[in-house]
Amino acid sequence: MRVHILGVRGSTPAPGPDFLRYGGHTSCLALAHDGALPTLVIDAGTGIRRLSAVLGGRPFRGSIIVGHFHWDHTQGLPFFESALSEEAVVSFLAPDQGPGGDVEAVLTRAMSPPHFPITPAQLPGTWRFAALQPGEHEIEGFRILALEIPHKGGRTFGYRVSDGKATIAYMSDHWPLSFGPGPDGLGEYHETAVALAGGADVLFHDAQYTDEELPSRAGRRGNGAGAALTAVLTRKVGGAWRTRAGYRLWPWSCASCWPRTTTSCARASAS
Ligand SMILES: [Zn+2]
Repeated sequence: MRVHILGVRGSTPAPGPDFLRYGGHTSCLALAHDGALPTLVIDAGTGIRRLSAVLGGRPFRGSIIVGHFHWDHTQGLPFFESALSEEAVVSFLAPDQGPGGDVEAVLTRAMSPPHFPITPAQLPGTWRFAALQPGEHEIEGFRILALEIPHKGGRTFGYRVSDGKATIAYMSDHWPLSFGPGPDGLGEYHETAVALAGGADVLFHDAQYTDEELPSRAGRRGNGAGAALTAVLTRKVGGAWRTRAGYRLWPWSCASCWPRTTTSCARASAS
């Protein structure tokens, strides 16, 4: 499996020299089978624009799954050039939002006049919009486990993706259920987050705040941002920390908070 990391920012894109190292685009990963072009995209933040260059001008034929509908996970969609061609064939899949939550209708609420010039139905190419249920799926030749994780403002899924040789876990927006003692003093862990992370080779996880900042910052803003320490502990609980020598953590973060969160990660890893 090859993973293209095309956007790691939360909330809103941020241009400028301060963001060159970790980038200014919002969330997007593109996954490819060995020796092939990407066919599976996780999240359609503005980072998805960069996928057109990876595809070398070829039309995109594959699936886009989003963790949820927030802007930083969907706003790149109408700017993904490789999907805006008559030869493009795209399945757009999102967590089932319940009664009245038809995927295309939900997307159209944000992507239609007067908010945006066109609707999803007016995108060129062949598009299919469908809801994902929690559970196991086979999409573009990848095995995908989708489970609901805590996040504010719409149903949110985390994903675990395997090609049979490698496994990644993706939880861009995830925070503890509560703050308090718990097994490591950060509240109780959410069982689906632990299930998604356990044994994965790479965990992609929210890391906006340090463990010291999380209770007051995340609680006050209510935006669901997780902490670096939460990520580290999640993988510990999942067992991957102990069993995978090559295991790596990719914190979803911003350049300005990166030094703080990586310090937090390093401290937690050493403990
Ligand atoms: Zn969100």
